[in-house]
Amino acid sequence: MKYRMTLKHIESVTHDTHHLVFDRPEGFEYSPGQGVELRLLKDGWEDEGRPFTPVTLPHEPTLEFVIKSYPDHHGVTEQISVMKAGDEVEIKGPFGAISDQGPGVFIAGGAGITPMIAVLRKRLHDHGTLEGSTLVFANKTEADIIWREKFEAMKGLRTLFVVDEPGASVPQQRLDRDYLRQHVGPDSRCYLCGPPPMMAAVRQALHNLGVKDNHIVEEKM
Ligand SMILES: Cc1cc2nc3c(=O)[nH]c(=O)nc-3n(C[C@H](O)[C@H](O)[C@H](O)COP(=O)(O)OP(=O)(O)OC[C@H]3O[C@@H](n4cnc5c(N)ncnc54)[C@H](O)[C@@H]3O)c2cc1C
Repeated sequence: MKYRMTLKHIESVTHDTHHLVFDRPEGFEYSPGQGVELRLLKDGWEDEGRPFTPVTLPHEPTLEFVIKSYPDHHGVTEQISVMKAGDEVEIKGPFGAISDQGPGVFIAGGAGITPMIAVLRKRLHDHGTLEGSTLVFANKTEADIIWREKFEAMKGLRTLFVVDEPGASVPQQRLDRDYLRQHVGPDSRCYLCGPPPMMAAVRQALHNLGVKDNHIVEEKM
């Protein structure tokens, strides 16, 4: 099924990331963590569908996205960064493997945070607390951290931010086995989403720590 939507509002989240608010199209059903294919209804861009993940919950009246732009690709996300209220898009879907499987360690890299936002918001809505869950969120720089204050304000959630750059107020740290072993045990449920090289490295580290594949809930970005 395809659904047409009009942008109501767009605002900056970080230097390269925007929060976009659309009215939720009638009849569109999805579960938190799933993605959609989104196309801009703009001359020259109608054939360029790209996957994005709603960060809102199915009972909410809006469908919202947090989208990181890569201007050097000269692709869809560069066009999204200059969208204005009233612009139209079409979505197809939903699809995707990440869904709420219970409390766990949510491990995200960069824009891989978006399915985590959806699942964490769902769990908070359903249970009133995120007690028992940890967010491990890796970024290149501190300025790249999406929604930092919102995660820190989520009741019961333990938040760990790490970056590649030195001198930040959060640790300069790779998501390697020695770091992850402080937060993950062999029986931990791990949600994992990020760029393919980060996913491969973290999956290997989790296996080394004894985490079984059926305890890893993952989606590639
Ligand atoms: C299931 C899923 C859900 C996702 N959800 C989200 C989300 O909610 N929010 C979010 O921000 N992202 C999300 N992503 C990632 C998002 O889909 C990509 O960032 C987006 O598709 C990039 O589109 P683009 O057209 O700007 O660039 P691309 O499609 O990557 O590239 C456009 C052009 O640039 C070229 N190019 C590619 N890489 C480079 C490079 N490094 N330098 C120069 N040129 C390059 C390509 O060859 C191509 O011709 C998700 C991905 C998946 C798989």
